[in-house]
Amino acid sequence: MKALIVGEYRQGRLQAGTYETLAFAQQLGAEAVMFAVGSDAELPRFAGRLYLADAAACGEYNPAVHKALLLEVIARENPDLIVLCHSSYGWDLAPRLALALKAAQVSEVVDVEEGAFVVPACNAKLRRRIRPQSARTVVTLQAGAFGLTGEPAGSPELERIAGSAAGDVEFAGYEAAEKGEVDLTRAEVIVSAGRGVGKPENVDVIAGLARAFGGELGASRPVVDAGWVDHSRQVGTTGQTVAPKLYVACGISGAIQHLAGMKKSGFVVAINKDKDAPIGEVADVLVVADVLQLAPALTAALQG
Ligand SMILES: Cc1cc2nc3c(=O)[nH]c(=O)nc-3n(C[C@H](O)[C@H](O)[C@H](O)COP(=O)(O)OP(=O)(O)OC[C@H]3O[C@@H](n4cnc5c(N)ncnc54)[C@H](O)[C@@H]3O)c2cc1C
Repeated sequence: MKALIVGEYRQGRLQAGTYETLAFAQQLGAEAVMFAVGSDAELPRFAGRLYLADAAACGEYNPAVHKALLLEVIARENPDLIVLCHSSYGWDLAPRLALALKAAQVSEVVDVEEGAFVVPACNAKLRRRIRPQSARTVVTLQAGAFGLTGEPAGSPELERIAGSAAGDVEFAGYEAAEKGEVDLTRAEVIVSAGRGVGKPENVDVIAGLARAFGGELGASRPVVDAGWVDHSRQVGTTGQTVAPKLYVACGISGAIQHLAGMKKSGFVVAINKDKDAPIGEVADVLVVADVLQLAPALTAALQG
């Protein structure tokens, strides 16, 4: 099996997700060839063939131009799989490619089981297995779902490909998101509230514990979507990626999208009523308790 993995650059920097696409190919035992629109300034650590187009000439984010380049590479390499990150870049480019190739497209793959792609369903409460029937498949990978065994290594064998930014789509640049209440990436301690806190008033209990630790309040997405906490405090794939020394997950189940944002934390404590909650798989300590009882007691002990 051959996988064409699509590397991703943003503002001149190679994105970490590129190595997750490599890990996916590694997990499948597939031969990996890489494509990227980027620059020589930061090449991926990859011992294989890299088709590199110049971002300065092609536009770093230009799905129309990148699609044309990719189709050229696909014609040369004839891969079985084309693998992208499930990022704004990937979810824009993947369906365009799939349509042009008349190939199946599977979005947001989180695992591979018995030869089938596993994707979340029903807001990630369920997992669905998909076995595409087409000869070729385009997949996008959920951030954090695949990790390399060992550090990436090697230098790519470069094949330069030329393209131009001419076309219907023009890359105008990036616009920074509005600054929110807090920059969680700088916090040494984060105490996060999940849906398990039950109601908005209870977020104060978790915020009190965060203050007692001298840290910041974080949150899972449902808590943010409900408007209980500002989006700048959301941890996960559609929030912040954090790596504090201590992360305390309060009433958080441990969905993959949340884990992707916090699994690099130094020490993880999870407080959950359910001893089988998936957060237990990444937690250094899982406290099986009602967080609304434990958090105030812990806060008082820290303050005492
Ligand atoms: C495209 C996409 C992007 C997403 N991005 C993100 C993201 O960036 N961040 C994110 O967090 N999620 C994200 N999600 C949502 C994610 O899939 C989960 O739905 C979400 O993380 C679940 O949040 P939760 O753990 O707070 O809630 P739940 O999954 O409902 O878990 C609540 C937990 O609280 C426990 N509990 C209940 N009561 C108590 C109590 N009194 N004491 C202790 N424990 C209790 C329960 O046992 C349960 O484990 C995304 C989903 C999609 C589809």
